[in-house]
Amino acid sequence: MTSSATFSALPTARRGVFRAARATRRPLRVCANIATDVAPELRSLEVMRKFSEQYAQRTGTYFCMDLSVTAVVIKGLAEHKDELGAPLCPCRHYDDKAAEAEQGFWNCPCVPMRERKECHCMLFLTPEDDFRGEEQKISLDQLVEMTKDM
Ligand code: SF4
Repeated sequence: MTSSATFSALPTARRGVFRAARATRRPLRVCANIATDVAPELRSLEVMRKFSEQYAQRTGTYFCMDLSVTAVVIKGLAEHKDELGAPLCPCRHYDDKAAEAEQGFWNCPCVPMRERKECHCMLFLTPEDDFRGEEQKISLDQLVEMTKDM
């Protein structure tokens, strides 16, 4: 599935385009210790899974009540990490993905998330959000199962 298809899987209400000015700050690095028993083709998925769990816990946010939304977004981030070397947000259209990844504004966690806890992908939802679930964890098995047809 392409990133635009990933975007299409998200609720229409959350597809708004931010008009925020471009950030000049450096994007955060995505760091995680990856178990050596994870298959090479799943390494980026595992990196982004761990990042998502840790970031949700650190920011007091939660995954969506529909964990398949969470899985689709994490898969999209992993694909961009493989393709571009950075976890560019998978829920937006870009004329030049490489340039956007280099610029860093929409590398996850994007600037709107870092500054205002605004995640239009519904990966990180605040406690007040009507769509948030109870989970801050998702297993690699769940991710693989929920995205196997992508
Ligand atoms: S935090 Fe930003 S970059 Fe990450 S999934 Fe949400 S909207 Fe996309």
